[in-house]
Amino acid sequence: MPAATTTPAAADRPPATPAQASLYQQLRGHLAALKLHDAAEALPTVLDAAAAEGLTLTAALEQLLAIEVCATEARRLAGRLRFASLPTPATLEDFDYDAAPAADPKLIAELATCRYLENATNVLLIGPPGLGKTHLAVGLARKAAEAGYRTYFTTAADLAARCHRAAIEGRWATTMRFFNGPGLLVIDELGYLPLPAEAASALFQVISQRYLKTSIILTSNRGVGSWGEILGDTTVAAALLDRLLHRSVVLTLDGDSYRLRDHHARNDTLRATTTGTRQPLR
Ligand code: ADP
Ligand code: MG
Repeated sequence: MPAATTTPAAADRPPATPAQASLYQQLRGHLAALKLHDAAEALPTVLDAAAAEGLTLTAALEQLLAIEVCATEARRLAGRLRFASLPTPATLEDFDYDAAPAADPKLIAELATCRYLENATNVLLIGPPGLGKTHLAVGLARKAAEAGYRTYFTTAADLAARCHRAAIEGRWATTMRFFNGPGLLVIDELGYLPLPAEAASALFQVISQRYLKTSIILTSNRGVGSWGEILGDTTVAAALLDRLLHRSVVLTLDGDSYRLRDHHARNDTLRATTTGTRQPLR
């Protein structure tokens, strides 16, 4: 057996001297004190690999700290995604452009780079229900969280309800700070329900305080021309749109509802089979 070429397993190596064992314990203690728990856990494996492969001290340290950096980044991303409160697992990668001919893949690919967030550009997704507005908003929010942006997803109705409660409970300033915090705020479904005047002014305040500082993605089933109706006030609507559109990308989706596609396809199949098999009455 070519003993010289095989890697000795940790158990096969002679036991460490008491001095070495104590040094090892001290090192683990340092890592734990610095809360580098993943590095502490990986320490024996990295040390074994370093000994077996004859790694330099620099290479071994790099391996050890790379493990901690990776784990920290994964934890932070998980935290950002938890905070983002995305309502679905939708991603931009599973968006089907064949089913959405009005969606420009180049524009969406550009948005996926998150560059629009650097200069506080807003994104408006407009179109009838079922065309993938929420899907795209969730996909873009996910990209933003992955790129390190603090991201938060809400609906217009939820934002209005939270602001209403905050006003009653004397937490208005805190709530405004909360909606001002994220680098990207998604406000989904503006226009499904008409907003009371108080809600429209809360929305206006959120949009105003973020204006030219941080981005908003807003989805609506109504074209901007009818936002006066949604907001119950054309002056508020005009002022709100002014800020929202000043630096913005507007994606207008059009076509058949993706939700109803399967439904239509099933009906077509059903119709084809029933007409195909039915014998003419004589
Ligand atoms: P909207 O917000 O415009 O009403 P959604 O984004 O909620 O529409 O889309 C409805 C459903 O159809 C979701 O499950 C979504 O993932 C899916 N969907 C819509 N458009 C597409 C598409 N082009 N590719 C893949 N899935 C889509
Ligand atoms: Mg939607």
